[in-house]
Amino acid sequence: MQNNSLSELIENTINEDAAILQKIELPNIKKRVRIYLKREDLLHPIISGNKWRKLKYSLLKANEEGHKKLLTFGGAYSNHIHATAGAGSIFGFNTIGIIRGEQTLPLNSTLTEAKKYGMRIEYVDRKSYRNKTQPKFTESLKEKFGDFYLIPEGGTNQLAVKGCTEIIDNINIDYDYIFAACGTGGTLSGLICALNGNKKIYGIPVLKGAGFLQQEIEEHVLKFSRNKYNNWDLKLDFHCGGYAKINKELVNFIYEFEELNKIQVETNLHS
Ligand SMILES: *Cc1c(COP(=O)(O)O)cnc(C)c1O
Repeated sequence: MQNNSLSELIENTINEDAAILQKIELPNIKKRVRIYLKREDLLHPIISGNKWRKLKYSLLKANEEGHKKLLTFGGAYSNHIHATAGAGSIFGFNTIGIIRGEQTLPLNSTLTEAKKYGMRIEYVDRKSYRNKTQPKFTESLKEKFGDFYLIPEGGTNQLAVKGCTEIIDNINIDYDYIFAACGTGGTLSGLICALNGNKKIYGIPVLKGAGFLQQEIEEHVLKFSRNKYNNWDLKLDFHCGGYAKINKELVNFIYEFEELNKIQVETNLHS
């Protein structure tokens, strides 16, 4: 596929105009605070939100370099794995997902759907997985799968940072703060670069003990923008006990939020 036609296909597939700003109602909100949610989840039914932003320029580069296959990494519940599988099926790439840990059957819905989109799923033990960025490991993958374009865990690389700068492109209201959830910090890095020192931006890590992200985000930002900004910060205490952990207060909040705003934020609580 020529680069032109992939750009065109992307333009015709991803609906930038759908990512509207939706005014949010909260149960205990102070009247003078207004909150808007940028509905990045509406960009596409399968490859949505920041997962698309992070993949876009990697897909274009892979295509430009003539790769037919994408290989990436993630846990068994990774939305990035799911999005990469979906993107591969829509934009004409074979996909390989390297999954941390052992296979558990029946497959969860993330991996079931990834397979449905044609992704080849390979499990690696946790120890090997930790070494996934070492050249020796990449070489062994090349021996096994042949040529591929490698997208790192969570999709976060410099091209992902570039893609995420576009999240704020059509925010057409005035505002003071941006808040974003953080996994790998790629999304926040893009937002920081796009703000170029303006406004104030907070990241909320979903992992417990995510202080290490401070430095990783600084590095992503410095590499992309050649700048060091201090209009951003991480709020490390809102993980509710760790990744995917819930408590009663959080569950009640989610139900109330969904009722007030008609946005489903947690599919798992409804199944
Ligand atoms: C994946 C994901 C994140 C984390 O993005 P990073 O770029 O890895 O920090 C945050 N919010 C949502 C809704 C996600 O799906």
